[in-house]
Amino acid sequence: MFEYAPAPESRDIVDIKPSYGLFIDGEFADAEHSFKTVNPATEEVLAEVSEAGAADVDRAVAAARRAYDMVWSKMAGGERAKYLFRIARLIQERSRELAVLESIDNGKPIRESRDVDLPLVAAHFFYYAGWADKLEYAVADPRPLGVAGQVIPWNFPLLMLAWKIAPALACGNTVVLKPAETTPLTALAFADICRQADLPPGVVNIITGAGQTGRALVEHDGVDKVAFTGSTDVGRQIARSVAGTPKRLTLELGGKAANVVFDDAPLDQAVEGIVNGIFFNQGHVCCAGSRLLVQESIAEELLDRLKTRMATLRVGDPLDKNTDIGAINSAAQLNKIRMLSDIGEQEGATRWSPPCELPDRGFWFAPTLFTDVAQSHRIAQDEIFGPVLSVLTFRTPQEAVEKANNTPYGLSAGVWTDKGSRILWMAQRLRAGVVWANTFNKFDPASPFGGYKESGFGREGGRHGLEAYLR
Ligand code: NAD
Repeated sequence: MFEYAPAPESRDIVDIKPSYGLFIDGEFADAEHSFKTVNPATEEVLAEVSEAGAADVDRAVAAARRAYDMVWSKMAGGERAKYLFRIARLIQERSRELAVLESIDNGKPIRESRDVDLPLVAAHFFYYAGWADKLEYAVADPRPLGVAGQVIPWNFPLLMLAWKIAPALACGNTVVLKPAETTPLTALAFADICRQADLPPGVVNIITGAGQTGRALVEHDGVDKVAFTGSTDVGRQIARSVAGTPKRLTLELGGKAANVVFDDAPLDQAVEGIVNGIFFNQGHVCCAGSRLLVQESIAEELLDRLKTRMATLRVGDPLDKNTDIGAINSAAQLNKIRMLSDIGEQEGATRWSPPCELPDRGFWFAPTLFTDVAQSHRIAQDEIFGPVLSVLTFRTPQEAVEKANNTPYGLSAGVWTDKGSRILWMAQRLRAGVVWANTFNKFDPASPFGGYKESGFGREGGRHGLEAYLR
C-alpha cells in the first residue's frame, strides 16, 4: 500500500454565502421558509437555502411563461445558440470553482468533479448550442413545448442540470428547475452564470426545496413538460399525477446494471472496469455496474485480483486529489446502504471489505463486496446506490443474459470479452438502454442515455434528447 501526503484542493476559490434565495425572473429572492445544506464529509452546515412554497412555484412558472411567450420562443435558433455557447464558456472559465463547490456540497472526490462532471457539463451546453439553429435536421417542423418543469437528484447535481437545461433551451423552451435538497449550491451558482451570460430573465428559474416543492412544480397547471430524474418510486408518483393531463413526460429512474465478464476478457482491464463501474461517485450512479456477473471458470482469479485492487482504494476527504471514494451524500442515504447491506448478510451472502479507516465525522461507507449472492437476494434486485457490489456467476452466455435481465430495471450493462461477435450477441439480448463493451461509465453528450422497464422512458443526450423538448 502506498502512502501519499495529503493533497487537498483549496476551498478559497469558492465563496459560499450564509444564505441563498430562489432564482426567479432573473432575480434572487428569499422564500418564507428555508433549510440547511450540509457538507457530507464533515457535517458542517454550509448555507441556509430558501424552500419554495406553492406561491413561489406559481411565480417561477409565470416568469417562465412570460419569458417563453415574449422572448425565447420568438428568438431565432442562432440567437439562442449564442446564449448557450456563452453559458458553456462561462462554465469552463468557472470550472475549478464549480468543481470544488460540487465536491463540498455533494461529497464526491474532486478528481471526479474536476475531470468528469465539469468537462461533461460544459460539453453538454456546447453540444446543444450547436443544435439550436439546426433543429429541422432533427425533427420535421420543430416547435418548442413551452415551460418545462424539471426535477433532478443529488448524485450529479450540475451534470443532471446540464442534461435537463441545455436541450430544453436549445429547442426554445423555458425552464423551472428544482435541484435536490441536499445539493442545491451548484444549481444556484449556475443561476449566477445565467445572469453573467445576460440570459433574458425568466428563461431559467431555479427553485430550491424538497419533495413538496418538486411535487408542486410537476403538478402545476402552467407546466407543459415534466422531466424527472430520480428514484423509481417518485417517478411512479409523478407518472400517476401527469396521466390524463396534456403534459409531456420523461422519466430517468433507477438501475441495477450487470457487468458481465467472460473467461476470455483481459482480467486486469476488467478489474479496472468493475472498480470504475461500482465505486465511481461512491456508487451513487443510476447506471452503476452494481451486479458483477463473472464466468464461473475465472471467478476465483478475478475476485482475487479485484480484492487486491479494492484494497488500494483511498476513502476520505473529497477535496484531496488522491481520494478515490468520497463521502456518502447524506445520513439518510448512508442508512439505506447500511440497511440493504445488513439484509444481504441476513440472506446468507458473504460480505467483504478491505481494511480501511473511515473519518470520524461525516457519512462514510467502505467499498464492499458480496459473494455467494443468489438472484432472489435483495442485494441482487434492489438498487443500493452506494459502494456495494454483488457478485454472481454464470456458465454460458445464455445464462449470463438471463441473469443480467432478471431485474425490474433496464438502464445499462457492461460486457467484457475478447470477441466482437459476442459483444454484439450480448448487446442484442440485454434489455438495457446503454451497453458498454470493455469499458464502463463512459458518457458523451452526442450519445443518447435512458432506460427500459422501471428505469424509465425517454432519452437524454444526442439528437434523441431533442425530441423530448419538441412538439
Ligand atoms: P428521489 O426520487 O428521492 O429525488 C429526486 C428528486 O425528486 C429530488 O429533487 C427530490 O426533492 C424530488 N422529489 C422527491 N419527491 C418528489 C415528489 N413527490 N414529486 C416531485 N419531486 C420529488 O431520488 P434521489 O434519492 O434524490 O436520487 C437517487 C435516484 O435517482 C436513484 O434511484 C437513481 O438511480 C436515480 N437516478 C437516475 C438517473 C438516470 O438518468 N436514470 C440519473 C441519476 C439518478
